[in-house]
Amino acid sequence: MAKIQMKTPLVEMDGDEMTRVIWQMLKDKLILPFVDLKSEYYDLGLEKRNETNDQITVDSAEATKKYGVAVKCATITPNAVRMDEYNLKEMWKSPNGTIRAILDGTVFRQPILVKGITPYIPTWTKPICIARHAYGDVYKNVEMIVEQGSKAELCVTDQEGKESRETIFDFKNSSGIIQGMHNLDSSISSFARSCFNYALDQKMDLWFATKDTISKKYDHTFKDIFTKIFETEYKEKFEAAGITYFYTLIDDAVARVIRSNGGYIWACKNYDGDVMSDMIATAFGSLAMMTSVLVSPAGVYEFEAAHGTVQRHYYKHLKGEETSTNSVATIFAWSGALRKRGELDGITELCDFADKLEKATIDTIEAGIMTGDLYLLSTLENKQKVSTEAFLDAVHDRLTEL
Ligand code: NAP
Ligand code: MG
Repeated sequence: MAKIQMKTPLVEMDGDEMTRVIWQMLKDKLILPFVDLKSEYYDLGLEKRNETNDQITVDSAEATKKYGVAVKCATITPNAVRMDEYNLKEMWKSPNGTIRAILDGTVFRQPILVKGITPYIPTWTKPICIARHAYGDVYKNVEMIVEQGSKAELCVTDQEGKESRETIFDFKNSSGIIQGMHNLDSSISSFARSCFNYALDQKMDLWFATKDTISKKYDHTFKDIFTKIFETEYKEKFEAAGITYFYTLIDDAVARVIRSNGGYIWACKNYDGDVMSDMIATAFGSLAMMTSVLVSPAGVYEFEAAHGTVQRHYYKHLKGEETSTNSVATIFAWSGALRKRGELDGITELCDFADKLEKATIDTIEAGIMTGDLYLLSTLENKQKVSTEAFLDAVHDRLTEL
C-alpha cells in the first residue's frame, strides 16, 4: 500500500523516560508504516534541553508558530532531585510553561471514552472537555500577613502619578491575611478567542462560569470580555455551526455539569480549571486516557497526553522488567495532530488515517486487550493485560485491517 503523503511538516517534540520509549515504538508501529511522515524534529529530552540551555524548547515553540501544528511527548520538569540525576546546569523551567507562554495558548483536556470503563458519574456518556485559563489570579498573587492594628489598602498609581485608594480591611481587632491578584484584558481576550475557536473546531457547545455576582469588577470583567467577543466575532459562526455559548455562575455550572450527559467544553478561570480538571479526569477513570491540546488565539495547535513521563514504569523498563504502560493518550496526540495537519493542508487521506488510528485503538481496548491501568478498571469479562509493546502491536494489527 502506498504511504500517505504530507505537505507541511509536523513539529515533533520528543520527551523523556517511559513516554520517550513509547514515542519511538508508536512511530515505528503506528505511523511510519502508513504515513510518509514529514516532521521537524525537536528533542525536548532533558539532556538536550540542558545541552542547549533550553534554547531547543524555544525553537520548537517558534517552529510551531510557523507551521501551525505540533505533537509533544511528556517531558520532565526539573526539581532538586532531577538536578542531581541529570547533572543539570540550571533548574530549567517546565517546557509546557515555556511553550504556552510563547504561543499564548489555552490548554483543553478531554477524556477518551471506551466501553468497559464507566465514569463515576454514569450519566456522563460524552466527554467533558475542560479549558483552563492559565494566567494570573491566585497563581500570580501577592500575599501578606497583617499584624493587629494595621490597615490594608488597595492603591493604584496611574501614568500621571495619581493614586486611587480603597480600604481592604481595618485590622483593628485581630491580625490577619491579605492577598492581591490581577489579570489582564489581553490575556482574558486570548483565552476567550481560544475557547470560541476550539468550540467551533470541535463543534461542541461552550460553557463559561465565574462568580460575577460577588466579584462585581474582577469576575464580571471576565464575563463582559467573553460576551463582547462572542457577540462581535463568533455569534454568527456559532449559529451556523449549530452550537451555543452558555454563561452561568460557577456554582450553578458545577450543579449542571453533574446532571449533564457531557459533550461540551467547560471554560474555567485559572483556579477553577486547576481543581475541576483533576475532578473530571478522575471521574472519567484514568489520567492515561486524557488528551490535551494547547490552542493559541491565532489558531496554532499543540497536541499531547495529559499525563507525565511515567517515571516509575521507566525505572522498571531500565531494569529490563516488562512494563504495561498505557499509550492511548499519546496515540491520540498523534492522531489529533495528523488530523489537524490534514485539515489545514486539505489531505483527506491523512484525516481518514487519524480516524482509523483512533478507532483501531478503541476497538483494541473494547476487544479486551489493554494495559494494566485499564485492566484494573475495566468491567469487560474477557479482558487481558498486555505489555506496553504488545498493546501497540495489537493496535497495529487492527489498523492494517481497517
Ligand atoms: P505521571 O508520569 O503522570 O505518572 C503518575 C502515575 O500515574 C504513574 O506512576 C502511574 O501510576 C500513573 N500513570 C500515568 N500515566 C500513565 C500511563 N500512560 N500508563 C499507566 N499509568 C500511568 O506523573 P509523575 O510521576 O508525577 O511525573 C513524572 C514526570 O513527568 C515528572 O518529572 C513531571 O515533571 C513530568 N510531567 C510532565 C508532564 C508533561 O510533560 N505534560 C505532565 C505531568 C508531569 P502507577 O505507578 O501506579 O502505575
Ligand atoms: Mg490540579
